[in-house]
Amino acid sequence: MPNTIFGKIASGEIPADIVYEDEHVVAFRDLNPQAPTHVLVIPRKPIPTLNDVGDNDAELIGRLFLAAAKVAEQEGIAADGYRTIINCNAGAGQTVFHLHVHVLGGRPLQWPPG
Ligand code: AMP
Repeated sequence: MPNTIFGKIASGEIPADIVYEDEHVVAFRDLNPQAPTHVLVIPRKPIPTLNDVGDNDAELIGRLFLAAAKVAEQEGIAADGYRTIINCNAGAGQTVFHLHVHVLGGRPLQWPPG
């Protein structure tokens, strides 16, 4: 699959404001934040969409959400509340085809999201 901008961030080829990383995942601030905290958590493995996740990725998906919760704690939004979002494919607004979890918080979030 083609290397996306997020693949290049994961490999260090292009810079990002990284707030957390480990062997499996990288978390960095969104360039166009939709809330006071808006962080993207990605697997290092270049999976295009949630539809492309396989049984072998079960642990990795768990790690993505563990990292999201860690970032929320780090950012000081865990107690008040935050939202995690995965946009899957163009109809849901996905623009970068490297799986990512949005972590949004720091302001009241409406439901339904629209
Ligand atoms: P999505 O629409 O779910 O695919 O989300 C893609 C997100 O990536 C958008 O919120 C963009 O603002 C963000 N984005 C795009 N390029 C970069 C970048 N180089 N660094 C950080 N965030 C980015």
